[in-house]
Amino acid sequence: MIREAVTCDRDACAALYLQPDDRPGLDLDELIERAGWVARPALLVRPGRDDQEVTGHTCPACTADRGPVLELGDCPACHGRAVDRLDGAHCLYCRTVTPHGDDEI
Ligand SMILES: [Zn+2]
Ligand SMILES: [Zn+2]
Repeated sequence: MIREAVTCDRDACAALYLQPDDRPGLDLDELIERAGWVARPALLVRPGRDDQEVTGHTCPACTADRGPVLELGDCPACHGRAVDRLDGAHCLYCRTVTPHGDDEI
């Protein structure tokens, strides 16, 4: 199966959102919005461009001014590096917390 991926528009940001394969019914745009991504016309992202058909995406880390994501890891929202703490894995960039055992049985 082909999974769609969304990348962050900000220069030097390595954030990535991969379409999960366990949510077949959901639209990718809706999924990335839930994960904290912001979609907007490239016009707003790159002033001076007049191609309004092109849309850009900004990752949750950059949206919250915690980007750019430099190290990739396991964060489900931005694929940034996450560190294990008692209550789960905390993303160093967008601060998404993934509870332990979420995808393990
Ligand atoms: Zn970003
Ligand atoms: Zn993250």
